[in-house]
Amino acid sequence: MKEIILEMEEYASAHNVPIIEKDSIKFIMKYIKANNIKNILEIGSAIGYSSILMASVAPDVNVTTIERDNARYMECLKNVKKCQFEQKINVVFQDALEVNLANNLKFDMIFIDAAKGQYINFFEKFKYFLNEGGVIITDNLKFHGNVGKSASIESKNLKSLVEKIENYIKFLKENKEFDTNFYDIGDGLSVSVKKDEKK
Ligand code: SAH
Ligand code: MG
Repeated sequence: MKEIILEMEEYASAHNVPIIEKDSIKFIMKYIKANNIKNILEIGSAIGYSSILMASVAPDVNVTTIERDNARYMECLKNVKKCQFEQKINVVFQDALEVNLANNLKFDMIFIDAAKGQYINFFEKFKYFLNEGGVIITDNLKFHGNVGKSASIESKNLKSLVEKIENYIKFLKENKEFDTNFYDIGDGLSVSVKKDEKK
């Protein structure tokens, strides 16, 4: 298992696949353990690095992960198989914004780590699939130190992307259904806990 993880890290760096930073995945794995999280939905599998590490926390942790890029999806399947996690990780090859999940499916955690410009759309679509007290964790909220500095970014594409992340942060801060904490770990993480509607 350790060997496979190392191979994935090497593959990611050789092929420019943006896998999660070590401190961030460590934080998420601890969170899964501490909060007894069993069912996880991940948006953005890439090659399966974060899925496999999350699924490895305990025997009864299961992950559904969505990836729209064919080459990455194939690589993800291969890695899931190598770890013998076929029963724990369900890899879905589709654009997450087009996926139809069974409406009785519920998750304890949703990990958003796909197209950064679509974060609000992912959040709004998938929040209905959270259990009571469930949590949405989002990666890359610092976007390599660019977030908060959009006004001074020259490149149009980068500026627009960073503005969208800044908007997402504002959206989370103002969200009345969720309580969000922001963490300066790795490339920046948020943890949004769904409030109890009965309170
Ligand atoms: N979670 C992975 C890294 C994901 S990188 C890890 O840490 O190991 C982001 C991935 O999201 C990319 O592979 C990209 O192809 C995918 N992606 C981007 N937008 C998507 C969408 N709308 N639906 C599904 N996958 C998407
Ligand atoms: Mg990421």
